[in-house]
Amino acid sequence: MVVLKSVSEVRAWRRRVRADDASVGLVPTMGAFHQGHLSLIRRAVADCDVTAVSLFVNPTQFGRGEDLESYPQDLERDVELASREGVDVLFAPPTANMYAEGYATWVEVERLTTGLCGRFRAGHFRGVTTIVLKLLNVVQPDRAYFGEKDYQQLAVIRRMVQDLDLECEIVGMPTIREPDGLAMSSRNAYLSPEQRRAALVLPRSLTKARQLIESGQRSAGKVLRAVKSRFAAEPLASLQYAEIVDPDTLEPVERCDRDVVIAAACLVGDTRLIDNQMVKLRERA
Ligand code: AMP
Repeated sequence: MVVLKSVSEVRAWRRRVRADDASVGLVPTMGAFHQGHLSLIRRAVADCDVTAVSLFVNPTQFGRGEDLESYPQDLERDVELASREGVDVLFAPPTANMYAEGYATWVEVERLTTGLCGRFRAGHFRGVTTIVLKLLNVVQPDRAYFGEKDYQQLAVIRRMVQDLDLECEIVGMPTIREPDGLAMSSRNAYLSPEQRRAALVLPRSLTKARQLIESGQRSAGKVLRAVKSRFAAEPLASLQYAEIVDPDTLEPVERCDRDVVIAAACLVGDTRLIDNQMVKLRERA
């Protein structure tokens, strides 16, 4: 595996790969790898002739007061893990290489970015789509891999790729969880043992919500009340939002009579956690 630090090095690598006619996979990450990242990487390595992983803590997707400065970083460990998985290129550029002096261009996906996390993280998705488009331009992958854990991000990126006629298949991958159900996240490292226990209210309340829908509850309002009452009983966690939305448009639904996504975000101390569950209804009412 080679570690490349600049756009020009990646371009030179890509030209060589193109000469070989090999398929290229890209896994964009912010590092501090856990099993969620590794599941994406494994799938890319299995699917593609060559795999690139990008590792870039993208400052433009963090808001003021968010955790950009404290975001967990361990390049040495990530290099070791990626290389063990058979990754060919780890692209870890310094910030100035992605956002040079005078940088002024942004990508904005409308509508899909206004609800859910968009309400609480102004500018976040603009930062995400901008960096992902830049990475797709530089690496020019045939496929790029994203986790369903960040469901809104995945939907927004699919929309961008479709709207801007990008020639890249977006592959969504299931959420990898700890044995007790908490979705893996680099941010879980911030939690104290007490907070770690309290954080379980997030997956558990979403599982409860999914079960309610699966057993016939059709009122989104009633399902969401059950989520809220679980949070009310957990003093260390505060719910930012819980919504039941259409899987494609992300618009809230009132009736759970078709496939829906239940998505939520909460704060445990200063740590913001998100999770979601897809509900597939075999019989559509
Ligand atoms: P991040 O480094 O947090 O930006 O995540 C990089 C990629 O890994 C994104 O596509 C995430 O959706 C995905 N990811 C993060 N956590 C998980 C998880 N627990 N399961 C599956 N994918 C994940």
